Amino acid sequence: MKIMFVVGFLLFLSLQNDPYSYQRRKMVEDQIQSRGITNKEVLSAMKKVPRHMFVPSNYQEHAYDDNALPIGLEQTISQPYIVAYMTEIINPQPTDKVLEIGTGSGYQAAVLAEIVQKVYTIEIIPDLGLRAKNILDELEYNNVEVMIGDGYHGWEDHAPYDAVLVTAAPEKIPQPLIDQLNVGGKMIIPVGSVHGIQHLILLEKQKDDIKVLKKFPVRFVPFTREEE
Ligand code: SAH
Repeated sequence: MKIMFVVGFLLFLSLQNDPYSYQRRKMVEDQIQSRGITNKEVLSAMKKVPRHMFVPSNYQEHAYDDNALPIGLEQTISQPYIVAYMTEIINPQPTDKVLEIGTGSGYQAAVLAEIVQKVYTIEIIPDLGLRAKNILDELEYNNVEVMIGDGYHGWEDHAPYDAVLVTAAPEKIPQPLIDQLNVGGKMIIPVGSVHGIQHLILLEKQKDDIKVLKKFPVRFVPFTREEE
């Protein structure tokens, strides 16, 4: 009886602290592990990052649903499974420096920041970039740097990167992003036309070669360009 009370009280405390911890654990089990994601660091990052803090308040109760959600300004936060898949496939290491294009809500950057040493992320819409920066600061993700700008050019100052993760879909892989990838590094990027079919593409930069693997069809928001 006493034990039940203690367990109940602890549960109450943890829910006070984080009302979504149960939903987040379910999300990882039902949407991510069940679809074949096994990387331990990825699973624990997805269990830890409070996804509901990255979505607009009117969508918070849907933050752990099995789909993308609007984050304003016609942009979206990716479906949890896609975030996990893209994070796992770059094989993230604790010493890695990763470049993300398309900060959006900042959620993907936070998931990466749980695993790798340093995350550089670029967002073209200033309002979104600033909002993401604020929440990342509030949650003390001190190893993430947000830049407002056109990610087409990458972020030369900190190159080369061990991995590049792109979360908006261009019609063609931007050459500067390939150039800024380390030898042995990986890029995951959705490629395709705005209204047509896009595919996730895995690019591996080898010493004298670039290997490109087409994964599965996806739907991302378009990769837009700043006027030159
Ligand atoms: N990774 C995000 C998903 C955001 S959606 C998340 O976890 O929430 C993709 C984002 O890419 C949008 O916010 C869009 O504004 C941005 N984007 C599109 N083209 C871009 C470009 N050329 N450079 C930087 N960001 C871009």
